[in-house]
Amino acid sequence: MASQLVRDWTGIQQFPTATQNKLLELLGKLKQENVNTLTILVMGKGGVGKSSTVNSILGERVAAVCAFQSEGLRPMMCSRSRAGFTLNIIDTPGLVEGGYINEHALEIIKRFLLNKTIDILLYVDRLDVYRVDNLDRQVIKAITDTFGKAIWQRAAVILTHAQLSPPDGLGYDDFSMKRSEALLKVVRLGARIKKQEFQGSTIPVVLVENSGRCNTNEGREKILPNGTAWIPNLVKTITDVVSNGSKAIVVDKKLIEGPNPNDKGKFLIPLILAFQYFFVVKRIQRAIKDDIANESRPLWELRDMGLAKRRF
Ligand code: GDP
Ligand code: MG
Repeated sequence: MASQLVRDWTGIQQFPTATQNKLLELLGKLKQENVNTLTILVMGKGGVGKSSTVNSILGERVAAVCAFQSEGLRPMMCSRSRAGFTLNIIDTPGLVEGGYINEHALEIIKRFLLNKTIDILLYVDRLDVYRVDNLDRQVIKAITDTFGKAIWQRAAVILTHAQLSPPDGLGYDDFSMKRSEALLKVVRLGARIKKQEFQGSTIPVVLVENSGRCNTNEGREKILPNGTAWIPNLVKTITDVVSNGSKAIVVDKKLIEGPNPNDKGKFLIPLILAFQYFFVVKRIQRAIKDDIANESRPLWELRDMGLAKRRF
C-alpha cells in the first residue's frame, strides 16, 4: 500500500462546515484508538451506485460514473490523507454480468487486493428496488467464498437512490426498513450465517443519495427524506464497524490461493470418517461377533439344532 500515491484530502473542503467538522471528529476518535488508516472496499452489482458513493465519500470525482456502460474490469484505489489520517477507498467493477456472477471480475479484484487489509466492506445496492432474488444471494455467496464469512462482521450495507417516495402508501422509514430487512435476509442466506450468529452482530444499513439533486438542510448538508444528514451518518457507521472488536480482513496469498476460507477443516472429514470406521465401527462389529460366539444358547435353540437331549 506504500507504493500508492497518497494525496492530501482536499475534497473534504467541498463539504459544508457542519459535515467537515463531524467527519474530522469521527476520524479524530479513530486516531485516539490508534487507528491511522482506514481501507474501505466497495462491492456490489453493476450500476447500483458504487462509484458514485466513492465520489460522495471523498467529495471528489475520482471514480468514473456511468449510467449505461458496464464498468471496466479493474478495481481502483484512491488514497487521501488528512491530519495524519489516511483513507483508502477501493472501487470495484460490478460482480454481475449477463445475469451471472462475473468470476473473472472477482478474480481480478482478488489479485488487486493482495497484501492489503480491508477494514470495512461496503456492500452497495439500491433502495428503490423492491425485490431481492437469487442473483443477490449468489453475489453475497461469491463475496463470502472469496473473503470468508468474517467479512460480514466488517461490513455495512449501503442503499443508494434513497431520495424516493415509497410505493403503496408506506412511510419512508417503514419502506426503508422493509427493504433493509429483505436484503439482510439475503445476506444471511448467501453467507450461510446462522440466525443466532447474525443477531449478535447485525450488519448496519446506511441510506445514501448520491444525486446532485439531493435535498439539503439549513447548513447545506445533504439530507434524506427523513432529515438525516447522510454523509456524517455513513462515516459514523464506518467508524462504528471498525471499532466493533472484530478483525480486519488481511488479504494474503493463503486467502487468495488457498481453499474456500469457509471450508477450513473440511479436509479432515474423510480422516475422521476413516478413524470412526476402523476404531469405532470395526471394534463394535468385533465385539458383537465375539458376543455371539460366546453366547450360551437358549435350550430351545439347541433343541432346534438337534443338540439338546429331549426330556419329554
Ligand atoms: P456503479 O456501476 O455501481 O459504479 O454505479 P455508478 O456509480 O456508475 O452509478 C450508475 C448510475 O446511477 C449513474 O447514472 C449514477 O449517476 C446513478 N446513481 C448512482 N447513485 C445514485 C443515487 O444515489 N441517486 C441517483 N438518483 N442516482 C444515482
Ligand atoms: Mg462503477
